[in-house]
Amino acid sequence: MTAHMPLQARRRFATAEIIAVGSELLTPFRSDTNSLFLTARLNELGIRVRHKTIVGDDGPDLAAAVQAALGRVDLVVTSGGLGPTEDDLTRETVAELLGLKLVEQSFIVESLEARFAATGRTMPCNNRRQALVPSGAVLLDNPRGTAPGLWLDIGDQVLVLLPGPPRELEPMFEGLSRDRLAERVSQERLYRRVLRVAGLGESHVEEKVAPIYSRWFDQDPAVDTTVLASPGLVELHLSTRATPSAATEALDGLTQELADLLGDKLVSTDGRSLSEVVGELLRQNDLRVAVGESCTGGLVTAGLVDVPGSSLYVEAGVVAYSNEQKQSLLGVVPEILQTYGAVSEEVALAMAEGVRCLTGAELGVGVTGVAGPSGGGEAKPVGTVCLGVVGPGAAEVAKTVCLPGDRGMVRQQSTQTALNLLRLALLGRVD
Ligand code: AMP
Ligand code: MG
Repeated sequence: MTAHMPLQARRRFATAEIIAVGSELLTPFRSDTNSLFLTARLNELGIRVRHKTIVGDDGPDLAAAVQAALGRVDLVVTSGGLGPTEDDLTRETVAELLGLKLVEQSFIVESLEARFAATGRTMPCNNRRQALVPSGAVLLDNPRGTAPGLWLDIGDQVLVLLPGPPRELEPMFEGLSRDRLAERVSQERLYRRVLRVAGLGESHVEEKVAPIYSRWFDQDPAVDTTVLASPGLVELHLSTRATPSAATEALDGLTQELADLLGDKLVSTDGRSLSEVVGELLRQNDLRVAVGESCTGGLVTAGLVDVPGSSLYVEAGVVAYSNEQKQSLLGVVPEILQTYGAVSEEVALAMAEGVRCLTGAELGVGVTGVAGPSGGGEAKPVGTVCLGVVGPGAAEVAKTVCLPGDRGMVRQQSTQTALNLLRLALLGRVD
């Protein structure tokens, strides 16, 4: 009956759930990558993925997952369990759950036999199971494998069963996006924007921005904001489901409010990394930079040269780990090391100035710190990191931070802090 309903009467899909079927996906050895592919494609169609489930090759577990999914979303997509072997249960389980008869389609048997015959093999009996089709299901062609996919209309909801191998699932889903799914999506699409923030911790950012984003969440179209932290950087992911113009207006509006609030803590509003932003500032100002690093062991330079085209503005990176090399490579005078200690703003500035003189770059960056787990003292505990930026002219800025976490975290956060200090120095916004 659904098949004869006029198109405009059918529900447009707004929400989806993905169920990945396969006991191997519940072991440490195989990951469910199909749901990542499906989520990306569904989002492009403006369909929000509300849940993802992984179930083993177990009939009752799968039936429960499908039933729960049909209770809460418009479109349910399963992957896996359509193969010929005993553990492939998706077809049978779904037919039983929905009270649909399984009917063997002789033309599928023939095409399966032909596939085997084409490579000089005879078809094992097991494969006949793949010709069983729940009554009312639409078959989805599978040119790369033996199991066809299945599309089942359940009232105005849809359940799609796709094969597990990505090389079969992906083209099948691309085909669906062009025809059957395209007919069921609305004008609205999912739009995202990524804002990067440096120099503020996750909970500080959250506290500052929550009053603003909660207001936008209650507007139409609603903008959803997620705060995500990575070492030394916080990301704000904004997303909205709307028509292109309404989405742009909403995302621009929220971005502007956040930009006004965050000031120079806001690194970028278009997903650019700190290194990319720093690179652009260096290019715009026609300046070149050199880095003298200790505890970061090259990570600051690596961050800078991650960006294509960085040869235009990166002069050199020198890792001077021991005190002797800080002196001989970077010209840090022994008195400074003795007076202030290797982890001090004075040494960070001396390293920055040293690498600048050594290389002729207009700007020098110095980083020295206690990455741990040993080496910390009362005055300078593990996580103490001193940073300096020098030039051009006499301008110099220094900063000391105390960073939490293990050695890896401290080194990564130091790197972001150094890049951020360089960004602020280039913007002339350091005090
Ligand atoms: P099946 O259709 O369940 O027989 O799956 C066949 C093969 O596809 C499995 O052995 C996996 O290698 C692969 N596969 C199944 N499900 C997934 C998934 N969710 N993500 C990535 N690969 C999968
Ligand atoms: Mg399987």
